[in-house]
Amino acid sequence: MRLILLGPPGAGKGTQAQRLVEKHGIPQLSTGDMLRAAVQAGSEVGKRAKAVMDAGELVSDAIVNAIVAERIDQADCAKGFILDGYPRTLVQADAVESMLSQRGIGLDTVIELVVDDRALVGRIVKRAEDAKSAGQPVRKDDNPAVFEERLREYYKKTAPLTGYYYAKGKLKTVDGMASIDAVTAEIEAVLAAATRAR
Ligand code: AMP
Repeated sequence: MRLILLGPPGAGKGTQAQRLVEKHGIPQLSTGDMLRAAVQAGSEVGKRAKAVMDAGELVSDAIVNAIVAERIDQADCAKGFILDGYPRTLVQADAVESMLSQRGIGLDTVIELVVDDRALVGRIVKRAEDAKSAGQPVRKDDNPAVFEERLREYYKKTAPLTGYYYAKGKLKTVDGMASIDAVTAEIEAVLAAATRAR
């Protein structure tokens, strides 16, 4: 099963991806997590990405495409994977197409979590508070000012992907404002239908 989770920052992609990992035994490929790990490790990629991430802007397509291309060749991706936070631009979406076709594999479905913008800032503030009270590091970009920029980037560069995947007959939408369990159930229903259609 290969799927993409689409949706603005704070839509719940990460939370749902973790549940899918548990249920389906396929890895979550979060480019955000990979980039944060690179920043933490102080690698060349991390050094180039840090300021861009802190500002809430998008890291270059070349960097993220290279990271994902390398990652999907690892053994744990053989049965499938969940792309979380990638692709985020049309250039990245085209890169996914060629990465998969070069490997003779396809995409099963793209699930968009549809959410109300006004609720998102509240979710981000809560995510920062939860991390803090759990003694975990708070993401530098989880604050309202940077969040505004992340949302702008989403509408400018990522939202067009819904049309891109709709045109390919791959897009399914799920109400991301429902409870976490209800969203999971809706995603599972979409995946079951996609599996039946295969
Ligand atoms: P996320 O954890 O998905 O919210 O990503 C955090 C930050 O990492 C984003 O605001 C971007 O700066 C960067 N990032 C993550 N994924 C991508 C991507 N696919 N393309 C460009 N930048 C990305």
